[in-house]
Parts: sequence; structure tokens; C-alpha cells
Amino acid sequence: MTEISLDDLNLSPDPMSESVADEALDVIAVPETDAPLFIGSEIYRGSSYGRMHPLRVPRVSTVMDLTRSMGWLPLSQYRASPRAKPAALHSWHSPDYIAALQAAEVAQEVSEEVKARFNIGTISNPVFPEIFRRPATAAGGSILAGELLRDGGVVYNPAGGTHHGMPDRANGFCYLNDPVLAMLSLRHHGAQRIAYVDIDAHHADGVEHGFAGDPDVLMISTHEENLWPKTGQLADDAGGSALNLPVPRGFNDSEMAYIREELILPAVADFASDAVVLQCGADAVTEDPLAHLDLSNNAHWSVVAALRSLAPRYLVLGGGGYNPWSVGRLWTGVWATLNGHEIPDRLPPAAEEVLRGLEFKGHRLGRNPPEHWFTTLRDDPRPGPVRDQIRESVAMLRRRRGLG
Ligand SMILES: [Zn+2]
Repeated sequence: MTEISLDDLNLSPDPMSESVADEALDVIAVPETDAPLFIGSEIYRGSSYGRMHPLRVPRVSTVMDLTRSMGWLPLSQYRASPRAKPAALHSWHSPDYIAALQAAEVAQEVSEEVKARFNIGTISNPVFPEIFRRPATAAGGSILAGELLRDGGVVYNPAGGTHHGMPDRANGFCYLNDPVLAMLSLRHHGAQRIAYVDIDAHHADGVEHGFAGDPDVLMISTHEENLWPKTGQLADDAGGSALNLPVPRGFNDSEMAYIREELILPAVADFASDAVVLQCGADAVTEDPLAHLDLSNNAHWSVVAALRSLAPRYLVLGGGGYNPWSVGRLWTGVWATLNGHEIPDRLPPAAEEVLRGLEFKGHRLGRNPPEHWFTTLRDDPRPGPVRDQIRESVAMLRRRRGLG
């Protein structure tokens, strides 16, 4: 792909009302710290894609509330996400498309022509009140992450992970592609070789589009076979840059552990990258309403922990996840894992209150949530047999990377 300059990062502070505490961050010199950094924003609170859309549920705000209620998010580790300006988004997205998103936000509607050309105003990618500001804030956070990681470290941007976004159109609930922008920002700040690992239930088609054929990028994606967008077949290697591992329905913790140990870790270690980016979508757990996989959140946390030592820079992003309890619990546990916080068997009252305050309107899972969705973060493990299909796919991909 062409060399892209992010000389001017074109980030503006999020004018949405952050808390007073967050504003204070701008004026108080925060001591440099090696502790992981959490990038968040108030823009996600109360933002919805619409009454019937899977992204009507709160996600990042739950993680912010839960981590704070646990005492896990001191000001020194929090950064308010800036909103990316159009010029920064132009490093990958077409100016016409960005202008269309901004216009759609103002008008709150699009013409048939705009709908057809940019795939916005559809059922999947609706016009909603923050159609530009929300994705531009998630993207701004991911671009900022590349800067924060200049000298190494760990950054978590749970609003990121919009891996379906395309240069000139919306795709799969994703208007922008913040993982691609994060990787360009990492490169701009000195990390040339990047390993991108994606354990969302869906294939990372947008990221693959961005870096296919790039010798300094290794993309590994596990995803449910035959699920939308149905790309990322086992044989698809994206010009040598990708390992795609479609997994069957019912994919369990033991199978993810097998893939982690036999494929993900050896391939990433062998690649010897300057940075690792993990897209940690929360839609591969049993409770997710869109996919048909059977992981517990332990599977995700084990991947989060295992990748940490494989590169000097580590960026963890969110992604899919459409059950408000499973997303909030999983992504809060990601932050605990990055910080080495022990996850208690039973949550303290303030954290339980956050989970009891969630609603999942219009879905049967919201009618009678089981008690442990309120009182715990950790699911019971969901082990199972490692099926031959998984073993054979892993063996094939190992051979392709020369891993024996
Ligand atoms: Zn997904």
C-alpha cells in the first residue's frame, strides 16, 4: 500500500462533555507511567444505532463504569479519546466518504444516491445521531494509541475494533476502520512490523483489505465459518499477509486454547513484530445473539494475557459483542488482565449495581438474565473436544508459515 503520512495527527479534543475529572487531566501534569492506558469517551454513553439495531446496547460506558467501580481506572491510566479530524481519516478513507458521513450527521438522512454509493442509511449501517462523531472518536482513540505507544507500552481502546470498515463505504456496523488507522499510526510512530490478531466471531475483511500483500503485517483471524461476511476462507492468505481460520459452530475454550498455543503464539513470535494489535470482539461467547460460538470469556482473557510479552507495543481493541452483560463483563476482564488485577469470585455491590442497571430491550436474553451476569465477571469455563477440523486447519496454516 502507499506510504501514508500522519504528520499532523489532526486530533481534536472530544468536545462532548467529559467529566470534570477528565478535563482536569488536560491541565494537571500526569506523571509518565508504564501502566496500561485506557482510552474512553462519554460519547458512547446513551448512543444507539436505533431501537432495533444490535448496537442499541451500552458497551464502552459499561466498561468505564465497571472498571471505575472496581477501583481499577485511576485518572493516571485514563485518556479521553480525541475525535479524529477528517484529514487524519483521509490517511485511509476517501474524502468523499468522510464528507458524506459528516453531512449525514447534520441532515440525519441520506439520499438514495448516497445510500447506494457509501452503504449508509441501510438497516445495518443506519443514520444515527452520532454517525460521524462516534466512529471518529473511536478512530481518534486508535490513532492516539499509536502515538502513546511510540516508546512501547500497553493501550486499551475498547471502542475500537471496527474491523469491517472500508475506505469508501460503511460495512457491517462499521463506518470507519480504526484498526487500520491504528496500524498506520503505529507505523508513523516507529513500529513498522505489526502483528494483528482478531478473535471476533466475524472475519476482519476491512483490515485484510487494508494490508493484503504487506510484508510487514501479519493478520491472524479466527471467525465463525459461513457467518457474514463469509470472507476469510482457510485458503485465503491475503497475498501472504493473513492466516484465516474459520471455526465451526460450537467452538469451545479448549479449541481456542489449542489455536492459541499451536498457531497464534508461535506465528506471532516467529514474525518478531514491533507491535501487536489484538481485536478482542466479544461476540464469540455463548451468550452473544449474533454468532453461534461457545467460548467463555476466559478464552479471550487467555489470549489477551498470552500476547502481551510478544512485542514491545501492545494495543487491545474491542469489536463486536451484542449482549450488554457479556460485553461489559468480558471487556472489563480484559482491562483487569492487562493490569494483573485479580478478578473476585463475587463482585462488590457498586459493580453489581452497574450490571443490574443494564437493559437488553427487545431480546429474550434481556427478560430473565441469570444471576451470575450481575454478580461475576468470569464465566465458568466451557471446555470440550478439539475437533479434527480445527487440528487439520491449524496444521495447514502452521505448514504455510514454516512452523512445522
Ligand atoms: Zn463480530
